[in-house]
Amino acid sequence: MISSLVACGGYKQKGNATPSVEDFNYSVDKFADVEILRYRVPDFEKLSLKQKEMIYYLSQAAIEGRDILYDQNNKHNLSIRRTLEAVYENYKGDRNAEPFQQLTTYLKRVWMANGIHHHYSEDKFTPAFSAAYFAETVKSIDPAKLPVQQGETADQLIARISPVIFDPTVYPKRTNQADGVDLILTSANNYYEGVTQKEAEDFYAKMKNPNDSTPISYGLNSKLMKVNGKIVEKTYKVGGMYTEALSRVVGWLEKAAAVAENDQQRDIINTLISFNRTGDLKTFDEYCIKWVQDLTSQVDFVNGFTENYADPLGLKASWESIVNFKNVEATKRTEIISSNAQWFEDNSPVDKNFKKEKVKGVSAKVITVAMLGGDCYPPTPIGINLPNANWIRAEYGSKSVTIENITEAYDQVAMGNGFNEEFMWSDEERNRAKEYASLTNNLHTDLHECLGHGSGKLLPGTDPNSLKAYDSTIEEARADLFGLYYMGDPKLVELGLLPSNEAFKAEYYQFLMNGMMTQLTRIKPGKNIEEAHMRNRQLIANWVYENGKADKVVEFRVRDGKTFVVVNDYNKVRTLFGKLLAEIQRIKSTGDFNGGRDLVEKYAVKVNPDLHKEVLARYEKLNLAPYKGFVNPVYTLVTDKKGKIKDVTVSYTENFVDQNLRYSREYSKLPNYN
Ligand code: ZN
Repeated sequence: MISSLVACGGYKQKGNATPSVEDFNYSVDKFADVEILRYRVPDFEKLSLKQKEMIYYLSQAAIEGRDILYDQNNKHNLSIRRTLEAVYENYKGDRNAEPFQQLTTYLKRVWMANGIHHHYSEDKFTPAFSAAYFAETVKSIDPAKLPVQQGETADQLIARISPVIFDPTVYPKRTNQADGVDLILTSANNYYEGVTQKEAEDFYAKMKNPNDSTPISYGLNSKLMKVNGKIVEKTYKVGGMYTEALSRVVGWLEKAAAVAENDQQRDIINTLISFNRTGDLKTFDEYCIKWVQDLTSQVDFVNGFTENYADPLGLKASWESIVNFKNVEATKRTEIISSNAQWFEDNSPVDKNFKKEKVKGVSAKVITVAMLGGDCYPPTPIGINLPNANWIRAEYGSKSVTIENITEAYDQVAMGNGFNEEFMWSDEERNRAKEYASLTNNLHTDLHECLGHGSGKLLPGTDPNSLKAYDSTIEEARADLFGLYYMGDPKLVELGLLPSNEAFKAEYYQFLMNGMMTQLTRIKPGKNIEEAHMRNRQLIANWVYENGKADKVVEFRVRDGKTFVVVNDYNKVRTLFGKLLAEIQRIKSTGDFNGGRDLVEKYAVKVNPDLHKEVLARYEKLNLAPYKGFVNPVYTLVTDKKGKIKDVTVSYTENFVDQNLRYSREYSKLPNYN
């Protein structure tokens, strides 16, 4: 089969070649606070047939896990999504009427967030249409199209999911991080059921052996629940929880293993298959160790239960996937960084007891993403550093990537949107941003991922989970500060990574402006900051502001009633970054929970309501969407008459609605409840 080469996205695709930046239409859709973008996959056509085939199979495996994340985010998400999709596809009433448009927007928001809670604020969305309208549309369609449970009527389905959608007191928050309450009982996600925070903490504390220097990631791939008064783990595996999706993931992984680039990669995929079959966390560690050591294969991937941001206890991992291949040209930049990793570690401002004597295997590369899935879709990270287990990182190092084709899409849509004109103090900052920001953003991500997360060490006997709910914020701050501190080091110019000693100022200004002010565009009025990366950025920026106040290192200045961030002394900013890095590393290395909590609660969480109001008003006038999500390209196998695979083509024409409906049609095998 050959995919159509006719484009409908506002550009013409010429044969198999990747469309140029100028010809590419990055923006796909816009609704609520979201803009959906496309990304290019440059040089896909230059890969070997085997590599393309491998990307095809891994891409299928990436989409198969989509439903798992919906269910992890809230146990009613699949029922709700399926009901909304059934209405969207089958409703015969007035589709131009306002409430139907509102229902469509709500469905798009559910797709964007993989559930009913905002992907960033984690608050439940408020639908603009009424419960009565919802009931009316659901009842108007053929009940056979609805996700009813056995013997259930449409009315019963409505009664089951309506309160979850409409009642603001039901599941208000996906992951609760507020200090002083039971974080499990107050979180809407589906990692625990019927257990309190205390019960969960005791359950896992009992499993841990403090003398084990190579502990498994306890609780990573399971739901903890009470069955007949007894607390048990329900494990995600083939034959266990999520078997309908995981068995299909395994099926595609088997095909991928058959076209692996080399034996090492085949072995990695087979170990992952074995983990999916057994759910054995020792096998997971084996897989991570093999995966982190594969530096030669051009095609690479993440597929499985990976990041623990969504669990307030930081144990359980959400399902995600990224399929990618190395961007050979841009990787030269990160190779310079990683080959100097020991120099960076030795010269950091951190106490020498908390430094690594020998930095192991910090491997860094720039990648081109070919497919996003699970917790990386539609909103996606721009850098990744894995694996997460501390002892594996210490012993085998970590693999760090910067995703350049995603940042390309961000940069392209940000050009000329008026944001810098509104919020930057003067042309000096704007010109620096124009000249250097693309480069310094990527470089900061490189430093954050390949040096920051990999730097430092825990003192012997420190429990890696001791910072609990504050760990994500502290860890991100540590990585950001490591990068920021070195951005201003003349060493980077010497290494050829920055063109001049001016360039770092572009990053410093943007970072402080964002952390002190403009990231508030992502927060609803009256709310505090919840998300770990945002908390980390405000923590750093506000700490530098407060601690440099006496010298006016950084100031707020008001002009024509508008507030601006002004940086008076960039070198002093750098010194302050270094001081905070030393303190944050101390907190991490010694497991100082109180120290971490104090920093986060003092600088990272609370928002200045007046400034917040002003920023939102100025931002609203620009008519921009604060959040971006992505659609994936579509890959098609091209076969000859005998069914032999001849090529894999990529097309960029699918829109957000069609893509999500197709994924729900073809890759949705989980029951409504799991
Ligand atoms: Zn990070």
